[in-house]
Amino acid sequence: MPTPKLFSPGPVDVSPETFAAMSHTMIGHRGSDFEQLYSSLQPGLKEIFGTERPVFLSTSSAWGVMEAALRNLVQKKVLCLCCGAFSDKWIDVAKKCGFEAEAIQVEWGEAIDPEVVRAKLSEGGFDTVTFIHSETSTGVLNDLEAVSKVVKSFPDTMLVVDSVSSLSTVDIDMDKHGIDVCLAGVQKALALPPGLALFAVSDAAMARAKTIENRGYYFDFHEFAKNDKKNNTPTTPCISLLFGLQFMLSEIAKEGFAARKKRHAKTNAMIHAWGAKHEFELFAPEGHRSFALTCFATPENFDLSAFIKELKTKYNFLINGGYGKIKGTTFRISNMGNETEATIQELIDAMDDILAK
Ligand SMILES: *Cc1c(COP(=O)(O)O)cnc(C)c1O
Repeated sequence: MPTPKLFSPGPVDVSPETFAAMSHTMIGHRGSDFEQLYSSLQPGLKEIFGTERPVFLSTSSAWGVMEAALRNLVQKKVLCLCCGAFSDKWIDVAKKCGFEAEAIQVEWGEAIDPEVVRAKLSEGGFDTVTFIHSETSTGVLNDLEAVSKVVKSFPDTMLVVDSVSSLSTVDIDMDKHGIDVCLAGVQKALALPPGLALFAVSDAAMARAKTIENRGYYFDFHEFAKNDKKNNTPTTPCISLLFGLQFMLSEIAKEGFAARKKRHAKTNAMIHAWGAKHEFELFAPEGHRSFALTCFATPENFDLSAFIKELKTKYNFLINGGYGKIKGTTFRISNMGNETEATIQELIDAMDDILAK
């Protein structure tokens, strides 16, 4: 029996075609073959980020760049907007890096209120804000436009946006919203194996980074910018994953970004409808729900672990039984990456089968 097909929110299922693209013969990273590979990625990446800026390639997971953003930008104090496992962890990471940091903490399952952000920033002293667009642990999609507007109304305040589980499922519009650092890992909505993070940096953030001493080497934004001018990366990148990314971007171009977003909205709605039929309540509030995954509250007297186990052993499908402090009391289903109405229907049929007993 192969390992189960992943319907958990990251890593997600990787297609055989993607793996085939990744098994390209190896190339050196200081030569024209690599430069061509690098530059071929830029138009597709710029489209999904919504930027005219170069998109940098980091051989790390998303957290590498999340930490890097702090190390390149913070001079005074960080404000972390916390509403779930990933956004909550960012303040711990800031403190571990030795920065002064404060949090706006909302209940898990709620969204960030832009007016609370405005009130906090008005107290003064902050120069960087961390924000997670789609909080993957709770299924909450925060209001990127409204929060950006508030943060950008405070001069010299950098906005760092984690779009790990939203990139390519909805518009990000980095330039339009004035996002200073936008980052994502590839193992979520881009359906690649883990190990690569993508990010873009505004002019203002590049200027800020220049004033920061001791921002290190591996994640120095200026090292990335300098090498980008030569269609290259500071250090040896995960070349096989970049061939995989090239393939995924060609798939997105073929499907069309607009059609891709529609597909995610449709498959996400299918999961919502399935939940409604079985009276599973959505964990995220109306109007703030991710289109990439669904988080349900586990009903009392529902044997979640038996359900997940049967889905895995009988159908070889894996969903997720909750993350962090809401493990068990919630469960999550991903519709990211390559899932279609047909494959989501297969999952729904399998889950219905189990529930019918
Ligand atoms: C998965 C995820 C991360 C973690 O990324 P790593 O690849 O483990 O570093 C960070 N933020 C969000 C929103 C995620 O969903």
